[in-house]
Amino acid sequence: MVCLTDDSRHDLSYAPAQSMRIAIRVTGFLAVVLFAWVAPSVRALEAVPAVRMYVLDCGMMSIRDMALFSDTGKYDGQSGSIVDTCFLIRHPQGNLLWDTGLSDALVGHDVPANADGVAIHVGHGLLEQLRQIGILPSDITYLAFSHFHLDHTGNANAFGASTWILNQAELNWALADPTPPIVDPSSFSAFRSAHTIMISADYDVFGDGLVRILRTPGHTPGHQVLMVKLPSSGVVILSGDLYHLQADRAFRSGSGAQVMRVNVSRADTLASMDRVENIIRNTHARLIVQHDPGDYQRLPKSPAFMD
Ligand SMILES: [Zn+2]
Repeated sequence: MVCLTDDSRHDLSYAPAQSMRIAIRVTGFLAVVLFAWVAPSVRALEAVPAVRMYVLDCGMMSIRDMALFSDTGKYDGQSGSIVDTCFLIRHPQGNLLWDTGLSDALVGHDVPANADGVAIHVGHGLLEQLRQIGILPSDITYLAFSHFHLDHTGNANAFGASTWILNQAELNWALADPTPPIVDPSSFSAFRSAHTIMISADYDVFGDGLVRILRTPGHTPGHQVLMVKLPSSGVVILSGDLYHLQADRAFRSGSGAQVMRVNVSRADTLASMDRVENIIRNTHARLIVQHDPGDYQRLPKSPAFMD
């Protein structure tokens, strides 16, 4: 009891100082909260002086029977694997994320082979890879997709603050009832509340010809590839799923095109392949087949970049 009385007196005698300490603590706490709240909006991402491209690991798929990848029986009975690659294009006027891969929710949760013999592995989250190069989802100015199959839309909803460049034909197809195969509309539902630019043809993202979306229908109705003019590396074309393997491209120029069985139009696919091959010849472009393991292996991976 005595001690309590003494403590009480002690507390009372030091009340002003203690109040000040509490006030300082509260002020400090508020400052931390305020900083945490304000910091993201005042944080300025340093602009790049020229276009550069980061290659991001967005997962891989092992396939027991590649039959699905040719409508002529070319791959029947053969096993194989494909990679899933995403690309960040940094331009002096902003940043474009091209495809969002398989969902980051699969990191540490490998999906065993399904009825079609397709197993999925995502080793590194897309958002974590972006964070490692100082990029937050809010730094992505534009989001665009080669097409709306779920291995390209897995992390789309993380970019609700970006401007989504959407192909109208692709969107109409992906939202149809019944839902087309390999499409998960819930994976890209954030477009409904995001700022959008609807396109139905080629589109020059930054208006200076350096980063262009090219219409290449066939795999899906609104399929498109991305053409990037890099200052040192020259013209690079990101294939989307125009081809799935470099071998497909060799067959196209040799013994015959391999068109995936799920493609919505064989004729459109062939015409799109012809268009891109002509562009490659005319611009001396390098074609990166986004699902090709060899192409991925040869590319510098983020945090390194191509310029
Ligand atoms: Zn794909």
